[in-house]
Amino acid sequence: MAPYTIAVIGVGKIAQDQHLPVIGKNPDFQLVGVVSGRGLSVGGVPTFRTAAELYAALPDLDAVAICTPPNVRHALAREALDAGVHVLLEKPPFPTTRELVDIGDYAARKDRVVFTTWHSQYNAAVEETRKRLAGQKLKSLAITWKEDVRRWHPGQEWIWEVGGFGVFDPGINALSILTAIMPQPIFVKSARLVTPSNKAMPIAADVVFWSDAEAEPGTGQLTAAFDWRQEGPQSWDYRIETADGTVLDLTLGGSKLAVDGTVVVEAPSAEYEGIYERFAGLLGRRESVLDAAPFQLVADAFMVGRREDTDAFVD
Ligand code: NAP
Repeated sequence: MAPYTIAVIGVGKIAQDQHLPVIGKNPDFQLVGVVSGRGLSVGGVPTFRTAAELYAALPDLDAVAICTPPNVRHALAREALDAGVHVLLEKPPFPTTRELVDIGDYAARKDRVVFTTWHSQYNAAVEETRKRLAGQKLKSLAITWKEDVRRWHPGQEWIWEVGGFGVFDPGINALSILTAIMPQPIFVKSARLVTPSNKAMPIAADVVFWSDAEAEPGTGQLTAAFDWRQEGPQSWDYRIETADGTVLDLTLGGSKLAVDGTVVVEAPSAEYEGIYERFAGLLGRRESVLDAAPFQLVADAFMVGRREDTDAFVD
């Protein structure tokens, strides 16, 4: 029998694409239920309409994976911790940074594990980039994260609402790679938030960062361009030039790394496999991970960002 029983809360796109199949393959976990407001059923396990029904029916449950949109997660996480259940959180963990701190404190008081996952960090090419940048100064770093919102988020109205993050919903994946690979801390200097006139959240954003790792401080050479209006080929790319002239191209969402044009890592994505392996280890050690850094970069972009209106967006 698997050491840990787990339930998934919110049976949407990411739960169906990744969490459920990956849990099914991991010998450390046994899926014992799902919570679905719509009542979706998943092969052979009971469906509960609310989390309260889940905890009442399965009092020995070990863990939940919360896969809802971020704006409802704080109440769900507290409810889980009150029920004595460990919590895995999809990215981005919450709509506000204080909610993350609160859940960390709450989990510690309840002696339960909380794990903020940033799936893009679980790529071999990301780890290789981190190693190669350690101790280096950077001449430039350019993130290009451009995708077609109609293709990847059809009908997902919550992403445009306050607390839905807009283009930072995918953009935070790039930022989670950034905080993982930077040889020194990185900070937001300025941001431009391009927002459709009929939406609360941006459809595109340009961010300039600063860091003590910059080879030429103050020149604005650490940048990110996010855009949800990209048709045709999609871009989830990093180009980094170190002070000694080495060029690193980390592409395909962090799964491929080329150094001076030579591919050094190209591995099929196994992000969620890595997340659940790590979760099992954290549960074994009763250890929480509350990595706020990617989330704080988004919050800071909203704090210092200048909003610019653009055409209304119609899905
Ligand atoms: P989604 O398809 O809209 O699914 C979210 C699910 O959460 C819904 O299907 C619904 O499931 C449940 N839900 C929605 N509103 C709720 C509410 N008010 N209260 C409780 N449950 C609610 O969204 P998604 O794409 O899976 O994204 C969910 C999270 O995963 C987001 O934070 C996103 O950033 C992250 N993520 C998404 C992807 C992706 O490729 N889509 C990739 C990585 C991470 P039920 O009807 O079953 O209750």
